[in-house]
Amino acid sequence: MMPTIQNIFAREILDGRGQPTIECSIWLDNGIYAVTSAPSGTSVGKYEALDLRDQEQRMLGMGVTKAVNSVNTVIAPALKGKDPSEQQAIDEALVALDGTEKRTKLGGNAMIAVSQAVMKAAALSAGLPLYYYIWQKYQLSPSLNIPACIYTMINGGSHGATNLDFQEFQIVPASHLDFIQSLEMASLLFQKLEEVLIAKGAIHSVGLDGGYAPNLYNNTDAFEILIETIKNSPYTYIQDLFFGVDVAASEFFNAGKYSLKDKSQPYSPRELVEYYKNMRKLYHVFAIEDPFQEDDWQSWKELTTELGETSIIIGDNLLVGNKTRTQKAIQEKACNAILVKPNQVGTLSETIEVIKLAQSAQWQVTVSHRSGETNDDFIADFAVGVGANYVKFGPPNRGERIAKYNRLLQVYYELQNYQQQAAGPTPAEAAAPTTQG
Ligand code: PEP
Ligand code: MG
Repeated sequence: MMPTIQNIFAREILDGRGQPTIECSIWLDNGIYAVTSAPSGTSVGKYEALDLRDQEQRMLGMGVTKAVNSVNTVIAPALKGKDPSEQQAIDEALVALDGTEKRTKLGGNAMIAVSQAVMKAAALSAGLPLYYYIWQKYQLSPSLNIPACIYTMINGGSHGATNLDFQEFQIVPASHLDFIQSLEMASLLFQKLEEVLIAKGAIHSVGLDGGYAPNLYNNTDAFEILIETIKNSPYTYIQDLFFGVDVAASEFFNAGKYSLKDKSQPYSPRELVEYYKNMRKLYHVFAIEDPFQEDDWQSWKELTTELGETSIIIGDNLLVGNKTRTQKAIQEKACNAILVKPNQVGTLSETIEVIKLAQSAQWQVTVSHRSGETNDDFIADFAVGVGANYVKFGPPNRGERIAKYNRLLQVYYELQNYQQQAAGPTPAEAAAPTTQG
C-alpha cells in the first residue's frame, strides 16, 4: 500500500551563525518519521527565492515564525494524505500554494524545508539511503560517485572580516586524489594554515563558514599565505591542488564598477576581466565563482570566452538555480558551471530540472551549502544522488560543515562496500526485511 503523509510540523531553530532557521518534521502513516532544516545565505543573490523573515523587533527581525506558520497552517493541511514519492506533484502543489515568482507568500525557506522533508521520508519509506533514492529516481548520472570537493580555506567579503574583497579562497584537489585523500589533504592544510597565520602574527579566528578570516590586506596576500602553507606540507602546489575563489562580486559592485582594496580607483568591468586573467596565470585559479555582479552579463560572457577553456566559471548569484536565467546563460555562454543551492529555488523538483538543463549544456555542476547551515546533512546525499561534479561545503572545520563531510565519508565507504560485494544485494535489497532468522 502506498504510504501517505500524516503530518508535517515546523518550528524555529538556530543555524551555525546563531540565527533562526526553520526545521521541519514529517510523519507518514507507515510510521516513517524524518526531520530536516532549511539553510540560509548571507551574500544573498538578488533573484533568489525569498528567505522569509519576520522583520519584527524580536531576534533583530530575523525570526522565521511566519515561515513556520506557512508550514503548519497552510502547507501541512494541503499535503496531508499525499504520497511522498510523488515529489513532483507535491512540489507543484507548494509552488501553487505560494503563487509568487519569488516565493514571498509562503517563504522559500518554508517551501524547501517541506520539499526536503518529503524526499527524506520517501527514501526512508522505500528502505533506501537518501543518495541512492535520488540517484535511482532521477537517473542523472550513470554511476554513484563522491563529487570532487572545493574546500574553502579563507573567508573574506561578507563571510569574513571585510578586509579581503573576495568571499572565499579555496583549494581544489587534483583529480588523482580520491575523496579520502582529498579530505585528508584539506584537513592537514587547514591546520597548517593556522600555523602559518600564527607565525606571521596574523589573526586566525574564523568567518561565517569556518574558514580563517585573517587580517590580510588584499587578495594576493591570501594566495601567498596559501602557497606558503602548501610548502610547509607534503603536498605540491599545481600537482596535488589548484586554487578556487568565490568572488561574490555583487558585494563590491557599485554604479557599474568594482571596488577592490588593492587600488584606489574602482575597476571597470573590462579591467576586472584582465585582473582575473592575470590571477589565473599567476595563481592557477581553476574555479572562479561569481566574478561579476548578476546583471553584468557582458563581462560574464567575456570572461567565459577568454578563460572558459581552462577554468570553471561558476554562476551562483548569476543563476540562483533559476531556469530562465540558466537558459539565458547557456545561450549566451555566460559561464560554464552552475552552483546549486536548493533553497535559492524553493523546491527540489525545480532544482533538479535546472541540474538537468546544466548537464545538457555539458556544464559542471557544483552542489553547495549556505553560510547559514545546521547539522542537517541532506545536501551531501543530494549532491551524490544528482551526480554533481563538485561540492562546496566549506572548510573541514565547524560542526555544521563537518556534518556534510562525515556524511560523504559514510557514503564513500558504503559505495566501496557495495562494489566489493558486486554480486551482493543492492541497498534496496539489503534494506528489505528478511524472512530468515
Ligand atoms: C556563496 O556565495 O556561495 C555562499 C555559500 O554564501 P551564502 O550562503 O552566504 O550566500
Ligand atoms: Mg557564491
